[in-house]
Amino acid sequence: MRWFDRLKQGLKKTSQTLTKAVPWGGDPEEVLEELEFALIAADVGLEATQEILGEVRESGKRDLREAVKQALVLQLEPDARRAKLRKLGFKPDAKKSTVEPKGHVVLMVGVNGVGKTTTIAKLGQYYKERGKRVLFAAGDTFRAAGGAQLELWGERTGIPVISAPEGSDPAALAFDAAKARAARGMDLLFVDTAGRLHTKHNLMEELKKVKRSIAKADPGEPGEVWLVLDATTGQNGLEQAKKFDEAVELSGVIVTKLDGTAKGGVLVPIVRELGVPIKFIGVGESAEDLQPFDAGEYVEALLS
Ligand code: GDP
Repeated sequence: MRWFDRLKQGLKKTSQTLTKAVPWGGDPEEVLEELEFALIAADVGLEATQEILGEVRESGKRDLREAVKQALVLQLEPDARRAKLRKLGFKPDAKKSTVEPKGHVVLMVGVNGVGKTTTIAKLGQYYKERGKRVLFAAGDTFRAAGGAQLELWGERTGIPVISAPEGSDPAALAFDAAKARAARGMDLLFVDTAGRLHTKHNLMEELKKVKRSIAKADPGEPGEVWLVLDATTGQNGLEQAKKFDEAVELSGVIVTKLDGTAKGGVLVPIVRELGVPIKFIGVGESAEDLQPFDAGEYVEALLS
């Protein structure tokens, strides 16, 4: 199945709520009333729902579905880009652009089970296919299986992995990996990290230390800090995300498992509350199932 079909399949329930429950051709006020329920049921959130309804009303468009599409796309862009898009008049990107990370080191954070290690492997493959020289650091030294899993992916994808024995200091490993990346002149280093939840405070302190030690090894890095978030965890995931943002200041989010049972609207509160862009979405377990995020395409899947 093509990745877009997997996305559509995953979003089927939400898209049914949005397309079937709303009497699109009917009386505009009735449409908006039903739409309000449908958007809230899809996890879009109260504030964003009100903004969308307001924009649809203001647009004065006859084609309400088109107006809703535009309003939803805007909600999926962080504030700055949203403002720019509004100014330019809404024009979705014709071609999906490659996501170019800032700098050379990407610190990857997220709680266990969200798909962080798999995502790192997919990212490595994505950039390798685009001619980048990639390095991995197996920074989840807390879990015995953490490093082994990434090493296995490294073998499969032909991407070198820097690792350390279980229980080693992840900040020291990140330091060595950042130095090695610079010394070898490689393009990108993805640093995996632990994601154990039960000792949340220690985890956040540890992540801060990892981030600092990357900066010490290679000033200006990490250029990016990406959070991996499981779409099926909804609002809960968002609360965790805020804690990560407080600790290490996120620059992007990757949302996984959109081929599952997620309510597709949850991407709106993710962008709104974290104020950072969604870089990629995961719609399955194979490498091609990680795709750069495109708001227009996503809304197309939601409203088709
Ligand atoms: P980690 O604990 O965060 O490192 O999570 P893993 O990378 O080990 O992934 C946990 C499970 O989620 C694995 O079975 C992955 O194959 C699966 N997974 C990761 N991303 C996706 C996705 O986008 N869709 C689906 N359906 N499964 C995924």
